[in-house]
Amino acid sequence: MAQEQAGLRGMARHTKIFIGLIVGAIAGVISNKFFIDASALAMVQKYLSDPLGKIFLNMLIMVVIPLVFASLALGVAQIGDLKQLGRMGLRTILYFLIVTAIAVTIGLVLVNTIRPGDQLPQETKEKLLATYGQQAAELKGTAEQTEFGIQTLVGVVPRNPFAVVARPNPDMLALIFVALMAGVGLTLINQERAQPLIRLLEAVNDITVAIINIAMKLAPYGVAALIFSVTSRFGFDLLVALGMYVITMLIGLLLHQLGAFSILVRLFARYNPLKFFKKVETVMLTAFSTSSSNATLPTTIMVAQENLGIPPKICGFVLPLGATMNMNGTALFEGVTVLFLAQVFGIELSLGAQLIVVIMSVLTAVGAAGVPSGSIPLLIIVLQMVGVPAEGIAIILGVDRILDMCRTVLNVTGDITCAAYIARSEGVALKA
Ligand code: ASP
Repeated sequence: MAQEQAGLRGMARHTKIFIGLIVGAIAGVISNKFFIDASALAMVQKYLSDPLGKIFLNMLIMVVIPLVFASLALGVAQIGDLKQLGRMGLRTILYFLIVTAIAVTIGLVLVNTIRPGDQLPQETKEKLLATYGQQAAELKGTAEQTEFGIQTLVGVVPRNPFAVVARPNPDMLALIFVALMAGVGLTLINQERAQPLIRLLEAVNDITVAIINIAMKLAPYGVAALIFSVTSRFGFDLLVALGMYVITMLIGLLLHQLGAFSILVRLFARYNPLKFFKKVETVMLTAFSTSSSNATLPTTIMVAQENLGIPPKICGFVLPLGATMNMNGTALFEGVTVLFLAQVFGIELSLGAQLIVVIMSVLTAVGAAGVPSGSIPLLIIVLQMVGVPAEGIAIILGVDRILDMCRTVLNVTGDITCAAYIARSEGVALKA
């Protein structure tokens, strides 16, 4: 009975969010096309939709740091056996890397077949470079400060665990490392001594869930506001101008989301894919409207536990790792974009260079921050690495947000498919 009620409530929440999404999108499109007074629309965006959307987003992101730390440390402590932890960890990381590589490969096959870059008219290219050139140059500046290489690896082990989080863009990989170490420490010490900290972490976990429940009450309005802010500003003409690029991307994302994930869920989690997608609808909607894996993480954990019956220790371990490290949609986006821009600039990338694109897209997707447009600085690094002009990013910036919404759906769906697989491989029967 209680379960039935929870299910009904879950469904109502999901329906409400969906309605918020549709209402926000329609209101945004109508205002974009027909709002006569541009300054009045700007006021609505500035004083209503932007702040409301931001408050909702911040409310979700606010709990991410304590949640990642508490759920990972607890997950590891609850697994208890370091051998089992090693096995699960290895399977999780391999799954992330292999499935992400599959995603990029799908993207590359499509972009080589459709060749959207050859079809971009010269004048559209010039116009886009002029319009978004400034923004692209600024992003290039940011990318130049973003270290990616051996230093990224060294940085995963921080000197000061507090400095990792006490900055505007927390270093999630380092946070994960600290949390894992704390969990391992809790496993190794005297269990009587470990208990107070375990209780505290459990309380932190529960508090974050309680806060998320409050935030999710705001979700229908927050989602409506976020979508309104995007659609009311969006240059729909751009979607047409970049039509073939957008279509190639969407086909790739759909193939991975519906094709690859269905096969993986069927084969590895032994679960009906249709039922799976139905159960994770709220997660997909939250990802779509927030464009952020991090902001979606609390919902991902809740849904994986409540709807699929994945035990907290597995969710707590796999999902925080996934939100940061497993980005299938992002990797596919990077691969398609690098090749598309190469085509636009008439650069033929050899098979070897394309292999570098695959490897770099997978690695940078691991390093990308789970926030809106988190992957752009890293995409610039990949472009430079294979000799495609990074300024070219200007060509796609105008449609990035809408593509970001779509790729983030894959990023989080991929995390749950992995959690379902790990649960299954550890002998857990998923909730029917
Ligand atoms: N927005 C994506 C995420 O949070 C990252 C990106 O592709 O920019 O998963």
